[in-house]
Amino acid sequence: MAASIAYQAVTRGLRWASVKHLFLDKSKSVRLNPRRWLNLQEYQSKKLMRDSGVTVQRFFVADTPSAALEAARKLNAKEIVLKAQILAGGRGKGVFDSGLKGGVHLTKDPTVVGELANKMLGFNLTTKQTPKEGVKVKTVMVAEALDISRETYFAVLMDRSCNGPVLVGSPQGGVDIEEVAAKTPELIFKEVIDIFEGVRDDQALRMAANLGFKGPLERQAADQIKRLYDLFLKVDATQVEVNPLGETPDGRVVCFDAKINFDDNAEFRQKDVFAMDDMTESDPTEMEAAKYDLKYIGLDGNIACFVNGAGLAMATCDIIDLHGGKPANFLDLGGGVKENQVYQAFKLLSADPKVEAILVNIFGGIVNCAIVANGITKACRELELKVPLVVRLEGTNVQEAKRILSESGLPIMAANDLDDAARKAVASIAKK
Ligand code: GDP
Ligand code: MN
Repeated sequence: MAASIAYQAVTRGLRWASVKHLFLDKSKSVRLNPRRWLNLQEYQSKKLMRDSGVTVQRFFVADTPSAALEAARKLNAKEIVLKAQILAGGRGKGVFDSGLKGGVHLTKDPTVVGELANKMLGFNLTTKQTPKEGVKVKTVMVAEALDISRETYFAVLMDRSCNGPVLVGSPQGGVDIEEVAAKTPELIFKEVIDIFEGVRDDQALRMAANLGFKGPLERQAADQIKRLYDLFLKVDATQVEVNPLGETPDGRVVCFDAKINFDDNAEFRQKDVFAMDDMTESDPTEMEAAKYDLKYIGLDGNIACFVNGAGLAMATCDIIDLHGGKPANFLDLGGGVKENQVYQAFKLLSADPKVEAILVNIFGGIVNCAIVANGITKACRELELKVPLVVRLEGTNVQEAKRILSESGLPIMAANDLDDAARKAVASIAKK
């Protein structure tokens, strides 16, 4: 239930960046998975891998068709693989809105790379992991294609239930690993790692054997596994996933794909890694909100929440849920609220067509409630707010704030406490 999500998030002291995934988790179960804020493109992850001695193909990146064509020529390879760069998997089976099928294309003719890139760049690619409308492709990776004789799955994860890192692998890698996990769980192998000891030789070799690498390939795979683990530690990752970790007919173990997630709390010592984040796939509303120091997360419902403090924001979302409503967002004004911030926050909320009511829940500790009240009345007038507005203020200078609101002549519903506010907000929508 949602209430316990917020409770667990707060008690575990999670930062709000990771809390986002708790709210967005469609299953609604409390899954404190290791996903965090920073996401890198495949080519960026592969650069990190290369620097750690992990085997990846030779590649270039391009953001125009002509640059892609030139890259293909420069690679001078027997075969080229062109890969759309988006922060989602399943690209191989994806579809572009240009009509092109497949976000991963192999070709022996380097001269067609320009035409292919032309149908990828600037178009949206939809895969089973993207929103319906897909994600716009701004970069492509042009790499030397290698023949693959076998595809396996390998990942290093930070797993809370094991109190540390775990190696996870399957000899049945490739595009449908979720299906393998669901239908043939006996084909998923794990090795729990003691973080002080690191990956032992016997663990790396056993994983390599479980992945089906034979003869000299077993040792090579074990070596790659250890290097991937070293990378995992070095960059403070919460996940390093390689699918497929492949085998070539000429006897090489190669990482054909790369997905790395990072621990947000390690940003202070991973400046170079975090500097790679181009934010291009971030939500535009979230970015706009960030300009005014507002923390905003879009959710699925229709009641906008306008709150100070992440804990109060989560509690507000939960109580709306408890009263049968659904929060449209999670907006945290933070500590020192300024009048202009209040105005900007209203502007963001009222621009959202999903929003059918707004609930303001501000606790004035450091914040002066009168400033918030002035911001609210100004925003209501200038933005000609069309949706019901429920306001609950408490704390510093609250009497003055209440006077400002009631004398404004605006149709603002005052609430006594959070429960009352949530009930009124839900009722205001039901009445319509
Ligand atoms: P994803 O679909 O987003 O996971 O993208 P991948 O990078 O994993 O590519 C999808 C599939 O394309 C892989 O599972 C491979 O089967 C295939 N593929 C990718 N690169 C190569 C390559 O260099 N050579 C060959 N033969 N196949 C490749
Ligand atoms: Mn893949």
